[in-house]
Amino acid sequence: MKERIDFIHLYMDDKKLNEESLSKWTDWKWQIKNSIRKIETVEKVLGISFSENKKNKLQETLNAFPMAITPYYMSLIDPNDYENDPVFKQAFPDIRELNKSNADMLDPLAEEKDSPITGITHRYPDRVLFHVSNLCAMYCRHCTRKRKVGDRDSIPCKSDLIKGFEYIKEHTEVRDVLLSGGDPFMLPDEHIIFILDELAKIDHVEVVRIGTRTPVVLPFRITNKLVDALSKYDNLWINTHFNHPKELTMEAKTAIKKLTKVGIPMGNQSVLLADVNDCPRIMKKLVQKLVRFRVRPYYIYQCDLSKGLEHFRTSVGKGIEIMENLRGYTSGFAVPTYVIDAPGGGGKIPVAPNYIISWSTNKIILRNYEGVITTYQEPDCYEHNYCDLDCANCNLQLKMDTLHNSEMVGINKLLADYDDTINLTPVG
Ligand SMILES: *Cc1c(COP(=O)(O)O)cnc(C)c1O
Repeated sequence: MKERIDFIHLYMDDKKLNEESLSKWTDWKWQIKNSIRKIETVEKVLGISFSENKKNKLQETLNAFPMAITPYYMSLIDPNDYENDPVFKQAFPDIRELNKSNADMLDPLAEEKDSPITGITHRYPDRVLFHVSNLCAMYCRHCTRKRKVGDRDSIPCKSDLIKGFEYIKEHTEVRDVLLSGGDPFMLPDEHIIFILDELAKIDHVEVVRIGTRTPVVLPFRITNKLVDALSKYDNLWINTHFNHPKELTMEAKTAIKKLTKVGIPMGNQSVLLADVNDCPRIMKKLVQKLVRFRVRPYYIYQCDLSKGLEHFRTSVGKGIEIMENLRGYTSGFAVPTYVIDAPGGGGKIPVAPNYIISWSTNKIILRNYEGVITTYQEPDCYEHNYCDLDCANCNLQLKMDTLHNSEMVGINKLLADYDDTINLTPVG
């Protein structure tokens, strides 16, 4: 903690930290205004200097992918070992970002292909991703939407938003709206409230989620005023993005506590990053610290194929090894789902260690986390009930008014009794 205070002194050019400078420090707008965008500033605050050659290459990297680091996030970096610092690696450019890899794709998740109108990605049956902001407090070096960072042409304007609301209104199957960006919390409070109010008017929207990294990189954004406004929506969930236990500072915890105190359930989505968190012990610490503050680890993402991310990518095997070290070894609700977001817009695919060893007509052979091999005896008398989707005549008590929505697609369709499909053939 002392080092942090020293850092703030230095950054604020202030010999004795007084109340005025502290109130600036904790003002999120001051943090944004004073974000670090130049290599020289990083040199100054870390007390280092790069060689001329390195600096030129770094500058070239910044020309391709800009940098922005909040002073707060910068203050978490250990100046004595900055090169190995997980915060430094997520925030400061690496000249390897300019390396080209055969696997690189501009829009690996095909978010634009699956976009019926500007700002909306509609890939799954009952939910949409709604890009409401293209601004971020900190430009993560591992951003999957790097192509858009700092791109003024992709700032959603009010008329885009209104078209988005129209789209959601027309699509009565959308029961979950995921606000993303950029970072929705970079918008002014009134703007956020406007969006939430518009969504609240749409009856079929049952759940609204906000994805934000502000608790990690700009915890001061979680002001009492914002929290008070958010507390009025009883169907709101917030997902954040902690990647390393080091990011769970006092300030971050304060921000999280404010949100959970008004009843907002919180989840966390981490990205598996080489030399940042590709270690079972680090990941275990991270998920344990998260649940301590009532943030539920939701996903660990395999790093996407976006341009400039090759050096962050790990093997999938590393991810499975991490999952192998979580399940059983810590609280079940601290274990996230490890997913690969399929290139080409296939969506998230869960990947996990295998626990089923074998199977016969009456027994299944399983192994637990310790390697104990066990059998589960299947029931002798579980009879197959032919299902023709005639729910009104079924003994199971499913009373729903939207039964026509339960038509199967994909693998479900292969499993369904009422459909004759026996294989799925890729087209196109
Ligand atoms: C991740 C994502 C969602 C939400 O997926 P969940 O598994 O429900 O969290 C929705 N739409 C798109 C396009 C996504 O990438």
